[in-house]
Amino acid sequence: MGTSWKMNKTLAQARDYTVRLVKELGDRDLTGVQPFIIPPFTALATVREIAVDDPRVILGAQNAHWDDAGAWTGEISVPQALDAGARIIEIGHSERRQHFGETIETTRLKVAAALRHGALALLCVGEPAEVRDAGRSTAYILEQAEGALAGLSDEQLRSVLIAYEPIWAIGEAGRPATPEELRGPFAALRERFGDRVRGLLYGGSVNQDNAPDLLRIDGVDGLFVGRAAWEVEGFLALLDIA
Ligand code: PGA
Repeated sequence: MGTSWKMNKTLAQARDYTVRLVKELGDRDLTGVQPFIIPPFTALATVREIAVDDPRVILGAQNAHWDDAGAWTGEISVPQALDAGARIIEIGHSERRQHFGETIETTRLKVAAALRHGALALLCVGEPAEVRDAGRSTAYILEQAEGALAGLSDEQLRSVLIAYEPIWAIGEAGRPATPEELRGPFAALRERFGDRVRGLLYGGSVNQDNAPDLLRIDGVDGLFVGRAAWEVEGFLALLDIA
């Protein structure tokens, strides 16, 4: 169960959230649940300093470049993200594909870079509404996943998480996918990658009301949450549900 804060939170807000999270987790039983937080780069090191007090919470970066260093103004490399505290590198979120030109090829390069440095790669896949309406969701997301994960060994795949996040389900303009809509895509992801990757997640308008049903879907190992986990109480409630 994890959250990306996207482009939100000042350092003070990040600190406040993490202090409260670690305190509230206390000696809560988290058997079978892996909490992870993906802050903006600017807050990563700060969150790490606090989160080390509870090693059960792992951190991620929202993106990273495939090159290790160099003339890439405005980018962050995987070694830099790891140095700041990340263990997960999120790759190919639809907002990055839509607005920043992420392609299947760049996601492939970024997955390879994450794995080369011993990080977990969290690959996001998901189709736009037109593709869903044309009945092509499963083919579309398999193409994204197969392209990004092409050529990886079974050992490498064990460090990969796939999050299925239909674009039409994400954010204020979205609505959560129904269990019926998720059955086909998750069955396909499970069949193609199920036993070989570390886990399959669902993301897109997850909240405390729909989380129990989403977690019951065959093939869904966990949830990747935006808005509903941006307040620490929301994240804690979702961890309890999981
Ligand atoms: P949301 O975001 O939960 O706010 O819809 C999900 C995501 O983009 O991962």
